[in-house]
Amino acid sequence: MPADRLPKLPPCVTDLLVRLESAGFAAWVVGGAVRDALVDRPGRDWDVATSARPEQVLALLPEARPTGLKYGTVTVPAPELEGGGVEVTTFRSDGAYVDGRHPVEVSFTADIEADLARRDFTINALAYHPEKGLFDPFGGAADLARRRLRTVGDPGERLREDALRLMRACRFCAEFRLRPAKEVLQAMRRHAPLLSAVSAERQRDELSKLLLAEDPRRGLRLLRVGGLLPGVLPSLAAAYGLRQSRVHAYSVYYHTLKAVAATPPDLVLRLAALFHDLGKTEARLEDSEGRLLFPGHARLSAEIAASTLHRLAYPRRLSELVVLLVREHMFHWTPKDGPAALRRLLARVGPENLQALVALRRADLLSLRPVIPDDHRLAVLEELEAAVQGLLASRPPVRRQDLALTGRDLMEAFHLPPGPAVGRLLDQLVEDVLDDPARNDRETLLRLAASHLDVGDEFSAQVGRVVQREKDGQPFPPGKNR
Ligand code: ATP
Ligand code: MG
Repeated sequence: MPADRLPKLPPCVTDLLVRLESAGFAAWVVGGAVRDALVDRPGRDWDVATSARPEQVLALLPEARPTGLKYGTVTVPAPELEGGGVEVTTFRSDGAYVDGRHPVEVSFTADIEADLARRDFTINALAYHPEKGLFDPFGGAADLARRRLRTVGDPGERLREDALRLMRACRFCAEFRLRPAKEVLQAMRRHAPLLSAVSAERQRDELSKLLLAEDPRRGLRLLRVGGLLPGVLPSLAAAYGLRQSRVHAYSVYYHTLKAVAATPPDLVLRLAALFHDLGKTEARLEDSEGRLLFPGHARLSAEIAASTLHRLAYPRRLSELVVLLVREHMFHWTPKDGPAALRRLLARVGPENLQALVALRRADLLSLRPVIPDDHRLAVLEELEAAVQGLLASRPPVRRQDLALTGRDLMEAFHLPPGPAVGRLLDQLVEDVLDDPARNDRETLLRLAASHLDVGDEFSAQVGRVVQREKDGQPFPPGKNR
């Protein structure tokens, strides 16, 4: 193992090891951080395993907090680290898992090897010590190098113990471009139904990591081949082999996988790509000439996204963003539609989401069929991207709150009572500035409002005088203009 592939421990982690060892305990860095270092990737969190019992750790490290005493875990605050702390867990060998989630009993042990043996996959059963080096009794480093996913011990037993490992298997394959060993895949197929007992939150976290992995297609494919897809994402399972119209070279399933991989690694975008076409299963129609049509599929896909994300306990805010992108993903724009059409799109999706929608469009287009160098669609896409950049930079008014006057201003100027009519008038003005952002000044808006209210030219002239008086520093007069 090249030395530069071993973890470079942050000083606070080295310090922890030294403090535990000078009190006579064994201590190692374990798990994900060691694995990630071997493939030269920044680790997400640092875990330390020790022979010290939790109460001994707490006594020795006064700053430590009990965070999972039952499982032997305390957390040592480390503000300089991303996670804010280091988890220190007593070496343990787990008893049987009854609920497929937690071992019924854990027994503490003095032995690092027994501790590594309870871990799920060989690539996670690694320990590192700055002087003793890598401790790898199950061959995890070789498996990583040969890109192979193996369980520690019998695959069937290990997957049955904690069914979340079924999804973890897919996620690790996606993160490290691994192939599951034959026995692991067979055990996955056999035990796939057990996943339904795993909580939505745990499934969600694994799905998110899978989607954000380096090779999400591999993870999704393995969910399917391992028999997990009908449980986790039934709508993707249903899209397998679903033929499409002629512009598409691939089935909905395969197109989806490509689109997910073609988006940047952002959870909202990856989820939007995952769901964007899944309504096609339900929308599918065939016309008299045998052409396939999918009318209204974006709306159906958005409904599927909403219900799936709800079932998987994703936060509401994130779900709403995904649903918005999915619902709007079929927007039409070509350069000849001009800037007003683009401003209307901006008004519909919001300035904070337009770029994401365009990124989704790019991923969608790139996944229709093999890309040819001077693809007309890509040329249009590039014009769209440039136009959107220019548009966002110019910050045009697109919403009521962007208008150069408020509802209160309209009520005062036209003696309108509060009510929906004021809102409607504001919306009409928004339409006016969407047509031409140069109209967004007070005077022009008051004139436009007068014409919408149909109070005629005379009033319009009066508005001009009011605005002029305001400009001259005189107060807005109470008028009897109607
Ligand atoms: P991540 O990169 O997501 O942090 P990780 O492998 O570090 O991945 P953690 O949840 O941080 O995952 O767990 C730390 C270690 O604990 C793992 O590397 C593994 O050794 C062990 N572990 C975690 N979850 C399980 C599980 N469900 N079954 C067995 N061992 C597990
Ligand atoms: Mg970790």
